[in-house]
Amino acid sequence: MVVNSNANLYGDLIWFLKGFMMQSSTPPPPLAERLLSHLFKAIIIIAGLLAISLFIMPLLNKAPSIVVATWQKMTLLQEELPAVRSLPSPLPERHLVDTWGGARSEGRSHEGIDIFAPRGTPIQATTKGVVSKVGDDRLGGRVVFLIGPGGAAHYYAHLESYADIKPNDWVNAGDVIGYVGNSGNAKGTPPHVHYGVYINGSAVNPYPLLIK
Ligand SMILES: [Zn+2]
Repeated sequence: MVVNSNANLYGDLIWFLKGFMMQSSTPPPPLAERLLSHLFKAIIIIAGLLAISLFIMPLLNKAPSIVVATWQKMTLLQEELPAVRSLPSPLPERHLVDTWGGARSEGRSHEGIDIFAPRGTPIQATTKGVVSKVGDDRLGGRVVFLIGPGGAAHYYAHLESYADIKPNDWVNAGDVIGYVGNSGNAKGTPPHVHYGVYINGSAVNPYPLLIK
């Protein structure tokens, strides 16, 4: 133990730092003890890695699609709602007729437009966005919902079958999302796609939004 006899501040500081860094008063532990301590640390690290690969990785494999889709939907919300004549038709080869507002069963009015095409014709997404539903609906039959710019929901109904898409998938305008049919309450009518747009939960006429 060095006795600090130097009265000046600089000397005190050096002495303090040396003592602090070297911990010179305690002798190093014996080799066996050090090896044991290293081994113990190694076991902890290996156990940690095992836990990550067994329990955390499987969770992460599921999580990204939800995390990414949530991020994409938040980004889409910041974007402008679809403008007039900005959306490509779900069936670009087919003639568009404004069938919005027509009387329907159970006192409903037609909250979309119907575009007729041969059974099995590919239906294209009218917007980029995130798939929010691929499934059955009482009236719509086999339906697909996409969330696009501004948070607008794009609805495609009466599908014969679906393309290879699932909720939280990203699609671009023009991507095939399914095939024309007459499922749901369209049974008995010629095959067509019912296309609807919902803004803040309210149906709006998609006809003016579509490029003719
Ligand atoms: Zn319809």
